[in-house]
Amino acid sequence: MPRVVASPLQGLHRVPLRPYEALSIIAAMPEATGSDDADVLRVREAIVRVGRLMFDRGLTDAAGGNISARIDGSRETEAATVSWWCMSPRYAAHRWHWRLPIEEVLVLDEKGSRIRGEGEPSRDVNVHRAIYDAVPAAGAIVHAHAPMCLVFAAAGRSMEPVLAAARELGTVPIVDGVDEAREVAASLAGRNADVAAFAAATLVAGHGIIVAGRDLHHAYDALERLEANARCVLMAPLLASTSLNDAAAQPVWAP
Ligand SMILES: [Zn+2]
Repeated sequence: MPRVVASPLQGLHRVPLRPYEALSIIAAMPEATGSDDADVLRVREAIVRVGRLMFDRGLTDAAGGNISARIDGSRETEAATVSWWCMSPRYAAHRWHWRLPIEEVLVLDEKGSRIRGEGEPSRDVNVHRAIYDAVPAAGAIVHAHAPMCLVFAAAGRSMEPVLAAARELGTVPIVDGVDEAREVAASLAGRNADVAAFAAATLVAGHGIIVAGRDLHHAYDALERLEANARCVLMAPLLASTSLNDAAAQPVWAP
């Protein structure tokens, strides 16, 4: 068994990292800044890191995608106890290619209003906020234009799991996206137990996929699994119709 070390993302996920994984994350982290306390800084850093990972692994495109995560705990104000959360800014892909300066990541209050952060608020703030309201177990949300999932979104199709890795995520439903915040929140509202255990997702017709996870670690993991599942659903029919062992389907380069 590898030695388990304290994770720099402690509190964002509950799966211990192996030493080399922790080191690679520390190396990828941007400089700490300004007035954030440790919890806020950790969440902003994680959004920067996971966004870069998502873009570099081809799980979203330059046209969109966004990430948010709740900040553990809450902040007392004169009016009430307010739960804060963080979200990537608008144009994180188009303008920054997910090389976000940490100052760009927004710190938001319970209503989705900006407390801190230099970035322009995403148009999807209301979608994320509606999901957090509907799914109390959601600790993080990832929205992506994942290439294979986009085929399902474009066709208006839900997606069945065909891989063991995707089985616990279940069938991914699709909503038409006319009233995206309401529809996505409604589709995930009954999945609170699944999100508490791991994650749940919804496709949005003509747009992309939204994953709610118990934390950012799990939400990102689920996105990878669902993209792999989508690729397998789409490509499996090629194997059914063609076999390289079939004399009628010899490759053209065969001697
Ligand atoms: Zn989008």
